[in-house]
Amino acid sequence: MGNTGTTEITKTCSSCKKPKPLSEFFKATKEIFGVDCYCKPCRKKINKRRVRKNYKYYQEYKAAYWQKVKDVVNAKARERYERNKKKKGESRT
Ligand SMILES: [Zn+2]
Repeated sequence: MGNTGTTEITKTCSSCKKPKPLSEFFKATKEIFGVDCYCKPCRKKINKRRVRKNYKYYQEYKAAYWQKVKDVVNAKARERYERNKKKKGESRT
């Protein structure tokens, strides 16, 4: 047999479409072959992109939410402040 080289099992990365040895993939027990469907460099890129996207989404969501509740929160805070001031004044007498 001439096939003496290491017969390493390769898997095609779902992102870059390149066949790579299993050692080039992160372990993922849920997947076939027990490894991730993306190779390590692709997985890192994907994770980074997702985090950044989520972060931006979260920031925008927070800003939009604050815009929506700002007036209500400020009004309530002022109301409470006024009420406390009044209450203090009343209890003094
Ligand atoms: Zn890849």
